Amino acid sequence: MSLSSIDLGPVRRPEYTGENRCLPCTIVNVAIALVLAGTLGIVTTVPVGAVALGGSLAAIYLRGYLVPGTPELTERYLPASVLRLFGKEPIATRSLEGTSPEDPWDQLAAAGIADPSPDGTLSLTDRFREEFRVEIDRRESAPGADNVEALAAASEAVERGPRAYSIDGNRLLRWESDAALLADAATASVLRATVEGWSDLERDDRLALLERIRLLLERCPSCDGPIDRNDERIDPCCQPPHIAVWTVCRDCDAVLADVTAPEADAEAWVGLLGVDATEPTRTDAPEAVEG
Ligand SMILES: [Zn+2]
Repeated sequence: MSLSSIDLGPVRRPEYTGENRCLPCTIVNVAIALVLAGTLGIVTTVPVGAVALGGSLAAIYLRGYLVPGTPELTERYLPASVLRLFGKEPIATRSLEGTSPEDPWDQLAAAGIADPSPDGTLSLTDRFREEFRVEIDRRESAPGADNVEALAAASEAVERGPRAYSIDGNRLLRWESDAALLADAATASVLRATVEGWSDLERDDRLALLERIRLLLERCPSCDGPIDRNDERIDPCCQPPHIAVWTVCRDCDAVLADVTAPEADAEAWVGLLGVDATEPTRTDAPEAVEG
């Protein structure tokens, strides 16, 4: 019986073979197979070692690995510089460990979601952009109550109007547009799957991160149009000044985010977002939108 006539379906692991084969894991596993087979050949007989080597290589060919768990282990423990040679990012950099919810911008950088560029502005990492796009393309229907529950760590979300949900009966979350809700639902899925510590975050800390990621988006999640970022310094007569930053899709006019920051934080926001909020251009605060 030739190998090709055997049904290998249940043995094959498509997630680790073919296009998905992890080169560092394959190298590590072949090395392990050689050492094991060599040792076996020395302590028993050479044919036994040869059979063991053949079996091990077949397993690596079919499953992508010999030692269970190596695809995760190599990503976690091989040095980042080695992984980058193979076009992989280490999982270990995707963690909120050691960050404080007091500084969500720092959390985004620490978790590998956004990268500071040489001029001091933040932009999303290629890896996050790609994962976000895959997640958007994967979705077959508009986000609903179950997505809101998942992203806000709520036990119950009830729809109260267009893009408005009451959360656990004590709070209303409202999104600026369908595109904004879609962005948060997709981002939360990506973070849950790829960033250690996301699931432990409190609701407000999650919402703060999602809002900042929305401010950093460059393409509209609904129509893939380019996004414009606007800002204004608002100097109301009887309140401390603050800055407003909002982003709008140039093609479908969806507002992705509309956020105001107190002037005490304005310098940091201006630097990170690369906006220029110096001239007071508006003396009324925009309608506060929670979410
Ligand atoms: Zn759009």
